[in-house]
Amino acid sequence: MTFADWIQLRPEGIYIVPGDFYLDPARPVPRAVISHAHTDHARPGHQAVWATPATIGIMQARFGTAATAQPNFLDWHQPADFGPVRVTLAPAGHVLGSAQIILDFAGQRAVYSGDYKLTPDPTCTAFEPIPCGLFITEATFGLPVFVHPPPEQEIAKLLRSLQLFPSRTHAIGVYALGKCQRLIRLLRETGYAAPIYLHGALQNLCHFYSAQGIELGELRPATAAARAELAGALVLAPPSALRESWARRLTDPVIGFASGWMQVRQRARQQNAELPLILSDHADWPDLLRTIRETRAGEVWVTHGQEDALIRQCTLDGIPARPLALLRPEAEE
Ligand SMILES: [Zn+2]
Ligand SMILES: [Zn+2]
Repeated sequence: MTFADWIQLRPEGIYIVPGDFYLDPARPVPRAVISHAHTDHARPGHQAVWATPATIGIMQARFGTAATAQPNFLDWHQPADFGPVRVTLAPAGHVLGSAQIILDFAGQRAVYSGDYKLTPDPTCTAFEPIPCGLFITEATFGLPVFVHPPPEQEIAKLLRSLQLFPSRTHAIGVYALGKCQRLIRLLRETGYAAPIYLHGALQNLCHFYSAQGIELGELRPATAAARAELAGALVLAPPSALRESWARRLTDPVIGFASGWMQVRQRARQQNAELPLILSDHADWPDLLRTIRETRAGEVWVTHGQEDALIRQCTLDGIPARPLALLRPEAEE
């Protein structure tokens, strides 16, 4: 029996045949196991969902009752059986609650990575390499040019700019789930104690993280603040808001974005990012290769990003690899 005999790609998503359930399905299904709560992985409307408590909590915070009629909370390494298929979740280190999905069936083990990174992140549990026969990996930054700098270096860049321009508002574009809270936490760890101002779209999930015990310090709504109050302050907003009229309320702002994509100079220029911060929640090229080695997988399927180079590299390393062309909505990040 091969892995392709029991793990199939259907229009809804990755389907586990003998257990009759989907991984991160893009369309509503009766039974879904969800790796993490980014909207390209976690869609509303599934009948029953299995995921970590944090992932289900975030889905409920975002989708309300549409999140799922039947939530099933799985802690790390707590097994759930779907007929002959055993499912367990292991930390993926990507955002709060993010999991790799371990599938055991008939003596074979497959691991679906979801999105992951190896760089330590104070807002979520660290990635654990899981030995397996098949590793289904993401490849968002699957090109040799992608080598992410240490996060501390990027945070220092931001702090330096705040010192250098004490009267300019620093407006940084961040994704609502994960990046926003990680950036705040990394700043707090350096001793930055000033209030941080949030666009309305970021408040909900910051409250959720705080309620989970992740200390974010004093956060204030940006819309309620007077112009003068925002001089020299740090404002966080979704990237789209900084491209729109929302940013016009700020006086002479320093505009920046925090994303792994900021390594691509052209992208930083396109977004008019005066202060590009390379802060990625995905594995870079060396960490993708290191992870594949550490799983000791005999076979690799690549999804979700730049597949070709990673497949070529696996083949050179003697590991059979192929793309898993996923039909999925546009990535949230
Ligand atoms: Zn993600
Ligand atoms: Zn993703």
